[in-house]
Amino acid sequence: MLDGKTALVTGSTSGIGLGIAKALAAKGADVVLSGLATEDEVEALKKELTDLYGVKVGFSGANLTDADAIEGMMGYVARDFGGVDILVNNAGVQHVGPIEDFPVARWDLIISLNLSAAFHTTRMAITGMKEKGWGRIINTASAHALVASPFKSAYVAAKHGIAGLTKVVALEGAQHGVRCNAICPGYVYTPLVEGQVADTAKARGISEEEVKRDVLLAAQPTKEFVTTEQIGDLAVFLCSDGGASMNGSIIQMDGGWTAQ
Ligand code: NAD
Repeated sequence: MLDGKTALVTGSTSGIGLGIAKALAAKGADVVLSGLATEDEVEALKKELTDLYGVKVGFSGANLTDADAIEGMMGYVARDFGGVDILVNNAGVQHVGPIEDFPVARWDLIISLNLSAAFHTTRMAITGMKEKGWGRIINTASAHALVASPFKSAYVAAKHGIAGLTKVVALEGAQHGVRCNAICPGYVYTPLVEGQVADTAKARGISEEEVKRDVLLAAQPTKEFVTTEQIGDLAVFLCSDGGASMNGSIIQMDGGWTAQ
């Protein structure tokens, strides 16, 4: 289904990004992984995807808080893969703490990685997509693109921002075969959430088990974590012919969290 397409998935050395990269590779897309990982971890991932799916797999270790590094990554994908057909803006980090104590450096990092990086990759990828008359941009937003939680000022601001960016890009690409949508997962048990469990326990003065039960899954009516495979399936749908009229959609996959 995606033979001949190249997918660049940012933040795909673990968690949701890796789930999406695998799902797209399983449909025949060549994939460029990105993230902060050791050489051994990268080699293992490249081998796993190549062996499983028989597609070409690349990697960029660009620090996506740096616009010049993003330009380097986009240049590499253009040179080695002929450009990006499917761009998944997924890299993100979290910090949990009350706003009066929120470290300024963490605010800057989260806005830069979770929001500005998607602006940079999109502005550099969309011309090629328009020229080809086909492109798919998928932003990993969050339920926090739609609702807030206390102690997550930077994250909620960045995720609401990416929902807005998604809508603008959807309008600009609409008549050029380019589609842009945001996936809004509820809680997925990835390394990002593992870290958050510890931070939330500290911020709220409760145990980590209580955080999982009373804070995370309390918000999620299914009482189940969303899986990376489910998110990968949704990304595949958005790249399929059946998904071609999805544009500017902010799509919840949150077990009913934001229905409340
Ligand atoms: P994760 O920690 O498993 O993965 C984060 C990825 O981003 C990794 O590949 C990491 O190397 C990369 N990364 C981190 N800093 C980077 C930097 N400076 N430059 C380049 N790459 C960098 O996290 P995850 O849970 O899979 O989160 C992925 C996305 O999904 C994030 O945008 C997150 O906000 C969003 N999300 C996660 C959840 C959840 O419950 N896990 C829910 C909703 C949304």
